[in-house]
Amino acid sequence: MADDSDSHDPDAIAEKVREGELRLHELDRYADHETAAAARRRLLEAETDADVDAIGDYTFDAEQADANIENMVGAAQIPMGVAGPVEVAGGAADGDYYLPLATTEGALLASVNRGCSVIATAGGADARVTETGMTRAPVFRVAGVAEAEEVVSWVGENTDRLREAAESTTNHGELLDVDSYVVGDSVFLRFVYDTKDAMGMNMVTIATREAAEIVEDETPASLVALSGNLCTDKKPAAINAIEGRGRSVTADVTIPRETVEDRLHTTPEAIEEANTRKNLVGSAKAGSLGFNAHAANVVAAAFLATGQDAAQVVEGSNAITTIEARDDDLYASVSLASLEVGTVGGGTKLPTQSEALDVLGLRGGGDPAGSNADALAEIIAVGALAGELSLLAALASQHLSSAHEDLGR
Ligand code: NAP
Repeated sequence: MADDSDSHDPDAIAEKVREGELRLHELDRYADHETAAAARRRLLEAETDADVDAIGDYTFDAEQADANIENMVGAAQIPMGVAGPVEVAGGAADGDYYLPLATTEGALLASVNRGCSVIATAGGADARVTETGMTRAPVFRVAGVAEAEEVVSWVGENTDRLREAAESTTNHGELLDVDSYVVGDSVFLRFVYDTKDAMGMNMVTIATREAAEIVEDETPASLVALSGNLCTDKKPAAINAIEGRGRSVTADVTIPRETVEDRLHTTPEAIEEANTRKNLVGSAKAGSLGFNAHAANVVAAAFLATGQDAAQVVEGSNAITTIEARDDDLYASVSLASLEVGTVGGGTKLPTQSEALDVLGLRGGGDPAGSNADALAEIIAVGALAGELSLLAALASQHLSSAHEDLGR
């Protein structure tokens, strides 16, 4: 930080930026983080006529957010509510949970809460993480397919060497697999890691860089980009829906017919039909990757509340909902193929986000490592299930009531 009397005066600092003496991103080195943020707000107010008092009215220490944001001016505050309690019998989650959800969409919490209440009445939901694997897929250049095959064979025979290199960069990450893909003179190596309680993108990027150096040293391959988009991070991609990324997690519940009728004002058959025609047939006709009603609503709200990487809602909401009317019950499931969540690192360290994780009893690393992130994935999956049930029931009951009206009953 500069030893300068102006370094405590936001107006004077803003003036230095306007005069070109300082650049916006240099302010944290010139002044303390709070003053730097205040100076940027002054600059914004002067240059845009916007009043940014609310943006500047935040409660955490700006320095705490240093790893999360550059050019900080304040905070975007999003209302947070809770849905639940809902009982989750998971591989890692076990008990009654209030699910913190941050959203600006009115009715979302009410809808998820109604679903949670029905699941609770039915005795709770089961949930399991069925696969774990955060991926990074660098792309290498080779001369042609002969060299490509040489690289793929070498990787197949030397995965242990790659594992040793990758794991030398982390105390927690474990390399599970390296999948090879060849397209002409490009070779993609999709590294798959168990990242324990971390979502893991930084961890696997650092680990993969180390392994990629060995591939370059030992084979004809030249690294072009550490991410070759076959990972696939933050883009809609079938590979995540099929192979999974982060956590693949499923939640399901069996609800007595009586509960469906009393609480959801419809029937298992009507909900099943709504799911089949909307979530399955409609989504297929649309060429959709997701076969669900609104899983993204719960995933996005849970991500914002608990400090996950919001852009990963793209693949995090990649879900299939199934519904089956079974004699006296309704069976419902939601399978999220690529839910990337963590309880350490990234945005989870920020104060409101860690408090939200505390509400779930999942702040920080789990014992054993990975169990907290598994539990978070399972609880979010149950939240998504609650949201699916509630919306499908609303659609089905409207259909039923309009059908009744049409029939004059
Ligand atoms: P991170 O903030 O880099 O920190 C995670 C680290 O926490 C791990 O590497 C690990 O250190 C440590 N750790 C402590 N206890 C742990 C436990 N119980 N389980 C696992 N790790 C534990 O977080 P990240 O999850 O790797 O990356 C998330 C961040 O990456 C987010 O901020 C996200 O926005 C950003 N991101 C990065 C990229 C990219 O390409 N780099 C892409 C998308 C998102 P050790 O490794 O030393 O064990």
